[in-house]
Amino acid sequence: MDSNYLCPVCGTNRSRFNLIEQVVTPVRKDPNNGAILEQVATNDPLHVPYRGESLRVQCGVCGVVEAEERFIKTAQREPQKLTRNTSS
Ligand SMILES: [Zn+2]
Repeated sequence: MDSNYLCPVCGTNRSRFNLIEQVVTPVRKDPNNGAILEQVATNDPLHVPYRGESLRVQCGVCGVVEAEERFIKTAQREPQKLTRNTSS
């Protein structure tokens, strides 16, 4: 989370973000009434574990939601021009 971000869509926002932590709850549901029957153990061989990103990021300017990786990669592709400007 200490990496620089740059929004891949609006291309200007480097400072305002919503960090969205993905909380995964594996469950087994009753197929008839939708009730949650139980939480599934993470080592259940019949249950595919979640392998998506643990953190997604929303741009605080344009609102787009993407994987954190995209914000980091965009910042690496377009490094900030360092200036001595102290007004910001
Ligand atoms: Zn944006």
